[in-house]
Parts: sequence; structure tokens; C-alpha cells
Amino acid sequence: MISIIVPLYNEAPNLEPLTDRLHRASSQWQMPYEVIFVDDGSTDNSRSILEDIHQKHPNHRYLGLSRNFGHQPALCAGLSHARGEAIVLIDADLQDPPECIALLLDKWREGYQVVYGIRQHRKENFLKRASYWVFYRLLNKLANISTPLDAGDFCVLDRQVVNHLNALPERNRFMRGLRAWVGFSQIGVTYERQARFSGKRKYTLSHLLKLAIDGLTNFSIRPLQWVGIIGVLVSIFSFSGLLFYGILRVFDLPFWGHSPGDVPGFTTLILVILFASGIQMLALGILGLYMGRIFEEIKQRPLYIIEKTSDE
Ligand code: UDP
Ligand code: MG
Repeated sequence: MISIIVPLYNEAPNLEPLTDRLHRASSQWQMPYEVIFVDDGSTDNSRSILEDIHQKHPNHRYLGLSRNFGHQPALCAGLSHARGEAIVLIDADLQDPPECIALLLDKWREGYQVVYGIRQHRKENFLKRASYWVFYRLLNKLANISTPLDAGDFCVLDRQVVNHLNALPERNRFMRGLRAWVGFSQIGVTYERQARFSGKRKYTLSHLLKLAIDGLTNFSIRPLQWVGIIGVLVSIFSFSGLLFYGILRVFDLPFWGHSPGDVPGFTTLILVILFASGIQMLALGILGLYMGRIFEEIKQRPLYIIEKTSDE
């Protein structure tokens, strides 16, 4: 069986069209399938539509989370309730065309255990495309695992991979990173990502920024190493300066037309203070990010809470 996991947050107008298109596409899959909608605390009438869909098609189940936990936790909820041999992750807004699932499944049948979609063209403005570009490259450089460029959450996962993903203990879930981290044979398939069928995107810029910071800090401690290196460099620089000015002062040597005994040098002083405190703030900030991570993990809270499922 194929399990199709659909996380959704206020996607009411998209649910029926998605169900229809999945049904039409399924003729190519040569396998029975189940759909698991994960209602991530929608405030529109998504839940009642899901109930209707479940009544009409019993192979369409849903998990209703008790509030909005976010896209990544919703994916995790779906993963731990999937029963299929192949598990498909797909958005509810029809940006990932259901017709492409067949292409991914072909690769899965060839023996690949992780088949992810690679977006061919991003239908987004230049600024956003540029930030994605920077993010994916940074992630690849920083993290020791390579997350494929421009790969989104749309993918087919083998049962074995999903079992490992479900067993991972961490709270902070960045699915694309974890998916790359688990290993196994992986391959990308390019597809054309469509515009949203209906509604506005739920990921605001601040969500995306949070996702990017999560992705980077969860998969790499390099920024901490950088902070260390910058600290050492700045110290070497300041120490040399200290020696330099010390010697000038002791021997009363002029430098740039002044000797250190004169008052000028105010500008230098201010610049040095600002520079040093700036570096310190940066270092503290990065340390803080990781401290926050530790705090999140140590609380051991569940990733999500299920309020109601279609099975009850
Ligand atoms: N989503 C979710 N919880 C959230 C935000 C989004 O389950 O808090 C779902 C959303 O309904 C959609 C998918 O995650 O099915 C991707 O969201 P969106 O389309 O807004 O992101 P984009 O495709 O623009 O990156
Ligand atoms: Mg979308």
C-alpha cells in the first residue's frame, strides 16, 4: 500500500480538488493507497470537509492536531501514522502535482529508498529565489550531510526510512535535513512546481527564516567554530595593537604625525570598542541560538498533540 501524507492548515478550497486529482492519478500506481490528512489546527472548515471526504472514501483518514503546530511537526504526525510500504509527502495546495507521484514511485520501484522532487522553476520573485539559493548553498557548505539543492518536502520514502525517521529522538524537525541525514539510496526527480491552487501561502517570511535557522543550527556546529576562530583572530589583532601602542608610548615614538601622548585617537578608540563589542554580541547571539536548541530538546515535550482522528 502507498500512504500519502498531506499536512494542511486552512486549505478548505483545495481539499476536494486534491482528492479528485489523487484519485485520477492513482490509476498509474498499480497499488492501493491511503491518504492521511494532517489538519494542523485549521480555523476554517477544513475539518468538516475532511470528515465528509472520510465518509465518502474510507481510505482517506485524517489526524486533527489540537492546535497549529507547524508544517514539520504535522509531517511527523503523518509519518508515524502511515501504514504503507511507500510513503508520499505532498502539500495540500496542489503545488506538487499529484500526477508526478507516479514518476517518483517509478524510482522507488527501481530500488531507491528516498526519492525527492527537485523544483525546476521557482515561480517566485527574485529576492525570494536569491534567499533560497543562499540558504541551500549555506546548508550544504555548513552541514556535513548534503541536502540536495532545491529539493522540497515533496518525496517518496521507503518504509525502512520512515521507521528510522520516526525513531529519531530530536524535537526540532527539519525534514529535508533529517531525510538526507538518514542516508540509504537517494535520488532526485525534477518536476515543475505549480502555483498554489487556492488561498495564500501559510509560510510567511518569518516562518521561512525560522525554518532556515532551524535547518542550519540543527545540522551544523560550524557557526560555533567560526565564533571561536573570529574570537582568536580578534584577540590576536587586539593583542598586537596593545603591544604596538605600548611600545610607542614607552619610547614616546610618533605614529602618523602624533605621539600617543597627544589626545587624538578618539576615533580609533571608539572604532575599536564598537568593533570588539560587536563581535562579542555576535558570538553571544550564536551561542544563544545553540543554547535555545538545547533548551528545546531538553524539555522533551511531544512534537504535536492529536485531538481527534477519523478512526474514532
Ligand atoms: N502548513 C501546515 N502548517 C502550517 C503551515 C503550512 O500544515 O503551519 C501546510 C500548508 O497547508 C501546505 C503546506 O504546509 O499544505 C505548505 O505550506 P505553504 O503552501 O504555505 O508553503 P509553500 O508551498 O509556499 O512553501
Ligand atoms: Mg505551497
